[in-house]
Amino acid sequence: MDFSTFGLAPALLRALAEQGYNNPTPVQAQAIPLILDGHDLLAGSQTGTGKTAAFSLPLLHRLATGNGRRQPRQVRALILTPTRELAAQVHDSIKAYGRHLGLRTAQVFGGVNINPQTAALRGGLDILVATPGRLIDHLQQGNVSLAQVEVLVLDEADRMLDMGFLPALKKILGQLPADRQSLMFSATFAEEIRQLAQSFLRDPQQLQIASRNATASSVSHCVHPVEASAKKDALLHLLAADSRRQTLVFARTKHGSDKLVRWLSKSGLKAAAIHGNKSQNARTRALADFKSGRITVLVATDIAARGLDIDQLPMVINHDLPMVAEDYVHRIGRTGRNGASGLAVSLVCQDEVDQLRAIQRLLPQSLQIDVLAGFEPSVPLDINARGKKANGGGRRPQPGGSRPQAQRKARPAGSPRAPHGHPRQRNRKRMASNA
Ligand code: AMP
Repeated sequence: MDFSTFGLAPALLRALAEQGYNNPTPVQAQAIPLILDGHDLLAGSQTGTGKTAAFSLPLLHRLATGNGRRQPRQVRALILTPTRELAAQVHDSIKAYGRHLGLRTAQVFGGVNINPQTAALRGGLDILVATPGRLIDHLQQGNVSLAQVEVLVLDEADRMLDMGFLPALKKILGQLPADRQSLMFSATFAEEIRQLAQSFLRDPQQLQIASRNATASSVSHCVHPVEASAKKDALLHLLAADSRRQTLVFARTKHGSDKLVRWLSKSGLKAAAIHGNKSQNARTRALADFKSGRITVLVATDIAARGLDIDQLPMVINHDLPMVAEDYVHRIGRTGRNGASGLAVSLVCQDEVDQLRAIQRLLPQSLQIDVLAGFEPSVPLDINARGKKANGGGRRPQPGGSRPQAQRKARPAGSPRAPHGHPRQRNRKRMASNA
């Protein structure tokens, strides 16, 4: 199948050829005809599958060939994303695919000067890509109206809810006309996502690309049990093994990411952090430096890394496991794309065993547990233990036939236990503010 079978405008096909896209990806092959037919859509699709083009191409086609005309302060299509980085990426894609169409587009998100955004909105737009918070600011200031929106896209809806955007979303949805097409993309489908979908999609077509919560089968998952206090040494050890390899490292908090970057830089590695406390410029620069190879290690929190379009990343290292198991799937979604093989390595201390179990339950494949030579924990990782109450020793079944016997007890009697890890936080909003 090639793109010409969809009946897209020739100017779009030309732009796709210039992008070097020859064939649609599976999500594009399924979603484009449904969207062109005017259906609402609920699509389960992770980043890296080509979902941006899956909604952008039919959207651009509709706007370029339809009867609607942009009006001052009005928006014809609204795309909401959870993060500024994703908004910028989606907007870049829209500009690339729509370069021969003459449509007016803009992106608005927080952390940057509001005035140029205001000017763009007042002129009227064919497509607006926005994060919810900044869009609400503009709505309150009367810079823009959503009364004439023809198409709404919610991208990474699950993450928007994780980040506490539900009230903002409800406010925005309340200002949209009832007669519109709505498309919702989400990597996961928790109950709250289904409820949100029910509240604003009309008789949606549903499609699921890659089975629910599945990670690419070309990714190997490896867990290294380590003491919490030895994690940063173990990380350095793994990174130093091939210092030219581009690696995305996940840390749980903004503070933790900065500390890791300082530690890695002191050790001679080229590293930068990307998280919610960094200015937009710093985040954009870090991502560009990582993509160009000027830095080889990008340390990120879950929220900052969400939706980052980083192609063909061979390795992701979890310095800390995510508090929400689905985030593991999102993290790993950046490796093993398009059939390339990828490695997902997690440094896990006993305090993270609950998280590890939750992750294993989500994955179709087994997590392989391998003790890293020189970093043997004093007590073997006990996957059946509850949090900090590990009792050490004894035979324990491991998921998927992995190898508990490979874990050696290296701690001499009477030596101190592993230091305590981070406190558990179940509140997603609080996590969002840390990440
Ligand atoms: P996304 O899932 O939208 O983040 O897209 C992931 C990557 O795939 C981006 O770098 C796109 O430029 C690329 N891509 C999307 N569709 C195609 C296609 N049909 N052929 C080749 N590359 C594509």
